Amino acid sequence: MKYGDWACDLSPALAASMFSAIEALEVTPDFILNTGDDPAHDVWAQTQELNLEAVRYVAALQQNMSFGGRRPIVNTFGNHANSPVNQFQGPGGDDWLYSGAAQAWLPWLSEDALRTLTFGGFYQMRVAPKLRAVVMHSTMFSGGESGNWFFTVNRTDVGAQFPWLDVVLGEARERGEKVLLLRHCPISDFDYGFDEMMRNVTESYSDVIVASFAGHSHTSWYTVQRDAATDRIPLDVTYVSGSGTPGGGNPTFRVFHYDLDTYEILDYDQYWVDMDQANANGRPEWKKDHSARPYYGLKDLSAASWERLARSWLQGADNMTSWQHYARAMTRNRRPAESQNRPVQACTALSVTSELYKQCMGDPHAELPTHADLGSSMPGELIKVLIGSQPVAQCSKCLDGEMTWCWKDSSCHLIGSLKNPCSNAQCASASKISACHCKTCGDAECSN
Ligand SMILES: [Zn+2]
Repeated sequence: MKYGDWACDLSPALAASMFSAIEALEVTPDFILNTGDDPAHDVWAQTQELNLEAVRYVAALQQNMSFGGRRPIVNTFGNHANSPVNQFQGPGGDDWLYSGAAQAWLPWLSEDALRTLTFGGFYQMRVAPKLRAVVMHSTMFSGGESGNWFFTVNRTDVGAQFPWLDVVLGEARERGEKVLLLRHCPISDFDYGFDEMMRNVTESYSDVIVASFAGHSHTSWYTVQRDAATDRIPLDVTYVSGSGTPGGGNPTFRVFHYDLDTYEILDYDQYWVDMDQANANGRPEWKKDHSARPYYGLKDLSAASWERLARSWLQGADNMTSWQHYARAMTRNRRPAESQNRPVQACTALSVTSELYKQCMGDPHAELPTHADLGSSMPGELIKVLIGSQPVAQCSKCLDGEMTWCWKDSSCHLIGSLKNPCSNAQCASASKISACHCKTCGDAECSN
């Protein structure tokens, strides 16, 4: 099981193979976008140092690609960046993370980016001549049980991120530039009125923002934003591009094609690896699964086309080809299309806020499902953007050598070590697999 386990995050070996696959693409990407959450989900075992180790590990893989030092690579903070998880205080409270990550991402940061990143975890980066990636620290606006606890208590924009966003987007407009907007959390995860605020900003600058990108959910989906006044004009698409982590499906990344003059997104290719096959063959084989335009029968990738597609699912039947394709891609070839609910997913694609979702579902009690950069190109080629990846470093401890997992102290130990509070009988499989969720002897997660 060198290449990972369904119960765990992306193994280091599979993460390395993903970056090799990116490196081996026919055309060198112009830039790479990483939508965040480099640390694993073993939140009980995390420390600030381990989380930074994960950030550094991913940055090293990025930089070690042949073009890694030359092409812009844009990283984002996810909710798992902090330790303890989901507890971001903002400026002055999370300096260890902001400055630690800034060190790791230094090869790609301008002075301006360094300044705002170390202040509040957000920044912008030029990724093409008239194109910026604008990176929000979105967990600062996600509250509730699974969101940022500090934000739940103090529901304000403590880092003045929205005023900054306004300045940056205004500047881009003045200079005739375009923007790719990155957030770890989709707008639907913003709370306490900040979803509406995000929606307003996106609408105000829809002439500047080419598209929005998010992660967090471990599934592949999209959502369309329409104008607030009439709710009829599609303005923006958020692409949630799957993930490197196996939680939710087979590991994926995407390659986006865009027009070199207008920066309009023309198409994307979704790549994947069959994790069972990789483990069985001892060799991961990354391959293209589909290109969005022909796969969904779209004439282009405009917000209007994505809107029409989701509306057709609302009116159609479960055997519609485009719906079957979408449902299959959502779980990254892990579960059958039948595992997805068509009206729920259609309305999710059509609703950036919970209010809009309730209206779409025709149910005042409906809950929007929580879903859990960049460089040149060959002349005349399309620029490519790659998104995804949630590699994790901690699991490597259980993958190396004769290690075993102990649930008592949530740690890996050498088999037979006297320091291991678990007896062999308590984790008798003595699995070399990371088995992050292994609780008892004989637990399926403990077995090889
Ligand atoms: Zn996340």
